[in-house]
Amino acid sequence: MIRPIPYVNEEVANRDFKYYIFDWDDNILHMPTKIRLEHRETADAPWRPVEVSTSTFALVRADTAHYRAPAQGGWEEAFRCFADPARDGEPNHFIDDTRAALARVAAGIEKPSPSYNTFKKTLVEGRIFAIVTARGHAPATIEKAVRLFIAEALTPLERELMMSNLRGYRRWLDKVETFGTDDEELDYYLGMCRYSAVTYDGFKARMANDPIYREKLAVATTAARPELAKEFAIRDFVEHVFHTLQRTGGLDRSVAIGFSDDDKGNVRSVSNYIRAELSRRFDGIKFVVYDTSDRTLTKGRKVCVSGQMNLPGF
Ligand SMILES: [Mg+2]
Repeated sequence: MIRPIPYVNEEVANRDFKYYIFDWDDNILHMPTKIRLEHRETADAPWRPVEVSTSTFALVRADTAHYRAPAQGGWEEAFRCFADPARDGEPNHFIDDTRAALARVAAGIEKPSPSYNTFKKTLVEGRIFAIVTARGHAPATIEKAVRLFIAEALTPLERELMMSNLRGYRRWLDKVETFGTDDEELDYYLGMCRYSAVTYDGFKARMANDPIYREKLAVATTAARPELAKEFAIRDFVEHVFHTLQRTGGLDRSVAIGFSDDDKGNVRSVSNYIRAELSRRFDGIKFVVYDTSDRTLTKGRKVCVSGQMNLPGF
């Protein structure tokens, strides 16, 4: 006989703390959003406009001899479809492309991206996560896409499990006895997560106001800036997790934070950052980095493990 799903899953109190930071494009979903670049075949050939996918961009972005941002409009023009529309009421590419990408996976046209199932599991288990992307959307836009993911990628049973786990955490950590509606509990959970699109103006302003990163930015090359921004978003999330654990008294058990990205440059810089700074500052936390650039590998390749604890299943 199948055990019914309890209204409140008390079992969550026996779990270790695992958190995840996900890149979105080609890590969770293969989005159809295109980057507008200029390309030339040879050094003396003329530059011609070309639209490339994000996975192609990850491969060619360092090839400045053959690819560049449009002469008119620069990088802002290149990533126009990666930001929210300038005016309300205009279509939002991120939401539309997420819907399209989810439909392709559901129809079996597209294989799930390497972290698709880990993201799904994270949601079903009700674990706190962060989305860290080079895109330029407002946090509310990304949260909306996550809601779309919950509605489309999870089965009704998985959504029921998620709610049971969310109530379990609320009772265990927040000592809640009277629960809100499912919508209210979901709002609370998604409000605990972080949505950082590092080219969003609000994010850039926050980074520029940070004394450490203002200095780091001042000396960084243009190419190093997106990686630095991802670093800032990761530090932000790790601090958020740390403070949440401090508040709820959860620092007495194993804590692990996973990071996954399909861009090798990001994987390298984040691994270095974890080794050089984060693992020293948060020495009770285990960090695990996954390189998901090889789409034939489910879950990607574990490239960096830092911290003393050794958790099974991570
Ligand atoms: Mg990516």
